[in-house]
Amino acid sequence: MDSDRPEPHPGCGPCAELDEQRTRAHGRGDGSAETDCSVLLRRHIKEAHA
Ligand SMILES: [Zn+2]
Repeated sequence: MDSDRPEPHPGCGPCAELDEQRTRAHGRGDGSAETDCSVLLRRHIKEAHA
């Protein structure tokens, strides 16, 4: 399983939102939602910030 935590880009709305969702998922112990957010964040970074 890929447990990387991609870094959100400062000042980017979608990055901030996904990072916040991931932090909330982590806070409630929802590892699968946390992983989903990391996947979505990494995909967004690749598409929007590459
Ligand atoms: Zn972004």
